[in-house]
Amino acid sequence: MENLLKNKNIRVTPFRMDVLRVFNSFENAISLSQIEEKLGSFDRITLYRTLKSFQENGLIHEIVMPGDIKKYAMCEEKCGHKEHNHQHEHIHFHCKKCSEVYCLDIPALPNFHFTNYTIENVEIQVKGICEKCQK
Ligand SMILES: [Zn+2]
Ligand SMILES: [Zn+2]
Ligand SMILES: [Zn+2]
Repeated sequence: MENLLKNKNIRVTPFRMDVLRVFNSFENAISLSQIEEKLGSFDRITLYRTLKSFQENGLIHEIVMPGDIKKYAMCEEKCGHKEHNHQHEHIHFHCKKCSEVYCLDIPALPNFHFTNYTIENVEIQVKGICEKCQK
């Protein structure tokens, strides 16, 4: 699993490995409080920095939920990998029943441009009932 960090040029530390293990133990996007709960004892600033470096290096991405709650998901093929240009923009599905957030392998928007606006990021949220909750 160390290679997950190494491949992204993230220096391996025991704490970073712990955080990575937390991500691996969940199937879908997780919130900060879920990470904190799993870690047990930790230094808040170190955790903050770790998440930041994971994000900057394209290991995880942030999903901003309504109410300014943030969730984090591991980057996978769903994040389009253009050379030197990692794109996290894909559709996030929020289940209203279990409140899980799923990364969908669908680009959020086709390539588009507005003449008078500079787009920095695109976040599209789709809400509904997930497959598991439909059963
Ligand atoms: Zn990503
Ligand atoms: Zn659900
Ligand atoms: Zn995602």
